[in-house]
Amino acid sequence: MADLDLPPAPAIDGARHLHSGKVRDLYELTGGRYAGQLLMVASDRISAFDHVFDTTIPDKGEILTRLSLWWFDQFADLVPHHVLSTDVPAEVAGRAVICRRLGMFEVECVARGYLTGSGLREYDATGEVCGIALPAGLIDGSRLPEPIFTPATKAQLGDHDENVTFDRVTTRIGESDATELRRLTLAIYARAEEIARGAGLILADTKFEFGRDEAGEQAGRIVLADEVLTPDSSRYWDAAEWRPGGPLPSFDKDVIRRWLRSPASGWDHTSTAEPPPLPEEIVARTRARYVEAYERLTGRAF
Ligand code: ATP
Ligand code: MG
Repeated sequence: MADLDLPPAPAIDGARHLHSGKVRDLYELTGGRYAGQLLMVASDRISAFDHVFDTTIPDKGEILTRLSLWWFDQFADLVPHHVLSTDVPAEVAGRAVICRRLGMFEVECVARGYLTGSGLREYDATGEVCGIALPAGLIDGSRLPEPIFTPATKAQLGDHDENVTFDRVTTRIGESDATELRRLTLAIYARAEEIARGAGLILADTKFEFGRDEAGEQAGRIVLADEVLTPDSSRYWDAAEWRPGGPLPSFDKDVIRRWLRSPASGWDHTSTAEPPPLPEEIVARTRARYVEAYERLTGRAF
């Protein structure tokens, strides 16, 4: 798998760069009221087939930041979240949050209500997903009898996450935390799935990350972190298009993936060659898809 070839993270006054992922840049604040806490910046970068494109999607960082904040609010009664402030340095206004620095659980907490992607591949090979036996006869896009917790562990930079059993999570973080993360993941998923359905969207699966408050009055409690329920961390389908039996268009990179696979791109997605720049039309259609997800879910104009 190719290394991430990212532009250097921009310097931000009062913040020290810690880490860059495919899409986001993480900083530590060095002064002010929130010194020592984190500044999480969502860029307009987009990736597909394990490549981060030089072409960016205008406003993507802001759309995802606003959507994630909106979702955090929908679960305020279920779980505390990590956002402390949206009053961020001017150069990242609108697409960054200041968040509480947590001791992260090294578990990607995935909930699935529908079978597709890596869950489907595992099911086809074994009849199970993460050790959970499922009924026979399910196909790509099938709704599961009930939502399931299918944890994964984060691989090294660039590698794909690996699905693991609940027992593996228990060994890693202990039974009581593992049970609590599963409970929270399924509770948040159930609420989110219902809200999405009201907007005509199916939330097929999603990933959460949790951490523990290590200092302060609330030390010890479990907090919802990272970004939540964005098209980058979740698989949304248009409910009107849902038809099990084949891959359904998602709300993030579908336009890009289809173009890359088509002769128009002139690129072989199985090769190690750098992908071509994205044409304007593909950028505009991808942006429109993110905006549509935001507007349908929140009921607000972007
Ligand atoms: P990828 O692009 O594949 O997601 P990545 O996970 O390394 O790669 P990011 O998701 O951009 O890149 O990185 C954000 C990092 O910040 C993750 O390691 C995540 O676990 C961590 N994180 C999120 N919220 C908090 C928090 N409140 N406290 C501490 N770490 C956090
Ligand atoms: Mg990540």
